[in-house]
Amino acid sequence: MTVDYAALLQTIAAEVATLAPEGAVAEYIPALARVVPDQFGMAVATVDGVVHRAGTADVPFSIQSISKLFALALALRREGEALWRRVGREPSGTPFNSLVLLERERGIPRNPFVNAGALVVTDVLCRRFLQPERAVLEFVHGLLGRSGVGIDAEVARSERRHSDRNAAIAHFMRSFGNLHGEVGAVLDAYCAHCAIAMSCAELAEAALFLAADGCQPGGTRILEAADVRRLNALMLTCGAYDAAGDFAFRIGLPTKTGVGGGILAIVPGRMSICAWSPRLDANGNSIAAAAALERFAAMAGVSIFG
Ligand code: GLU
Repeated sequence: MTVDYAALLQTIAAEVATLAPEGAVAEYIPALARVVPDQFGMAVATVDGVVHRAGTADVPFSIQSISKLFALALALRREGEALWRRVGREPSGTPFNSLVLLERERGIPRNPFVNAGALVVTDVLCRRFLQPERAVLEFVHGLLGRSGVGIDAEVARSERRHSDRNAAIAHFMRSFGNLHGEVGAVLDAYCAHCAIAMSCAELAEAALFLAADGCQPGGTRILEAADVRRLNALMLTCGAYDAAGDFAFRIGLPTKTGVGGGILAIVPGRMSICAWSPRLDANGNSIAAAAALERFAAMAGVSIFG
């Protein structure tokens, strides 16, 4: 089926505009609570590098947990297989910032996308790089082939000031020997890479290697194809936290969500898609962005399940 992606995005943006404004912006990070709630943007980047846009697709927003994907890709490049001795690959069935499984599982986080797992990944980056958040940012610049993406310092400071829960998770893992660096330094780096600001178009472009067996357009290899298959599997099973099953059911694509309201989705072999709208449901996932991706997957016929 030949699909006019540009036209499809316009149709979806018009449909999403008619949805009732449900949900609320993330408030536990005070600087995020100031975002204008009723915005919607969406972009599709196909593996040949063409980008289609709708709505506020070029407005930067706080990527939050979507940064966990870039941090993980970078840590895998440096650490390889050894990383999987410290982080699991199972959905947690608990909220993204939960501590409950860590005691029973002796400080080994269920997967790299819950906060505990991302803190271990960030700990790896702290060991490997003098300025780990800059390393993540430069990795993103490399993916885009240009600089210009930055860290929103106010959001980073705001989260860092309110990071008691993530600090508790980090200390707890450290007590089991699964966090090697100083908790404060890991939290500084974690809050900073979560505060990277990017637009839907930039995110879709930066993530193309996940749709193209590990290479960005132009052929630069970012990860081995086998690692990319594994990342997509983790996104499908763990990328939307406690809603991963529901997302697989509704959308049928590997996704990664963030409390800034962004959702990145991968269509292996074909494209990456990013939708953004700040109002979140109780799991911390954007309501309108999920609805838009559900429509897109159905109308373009791109679910990985056929
Ligand atoms: N920086 C956020 C936190 O640690 C990320 C959560 C998210 O986007 O899901 O709470």
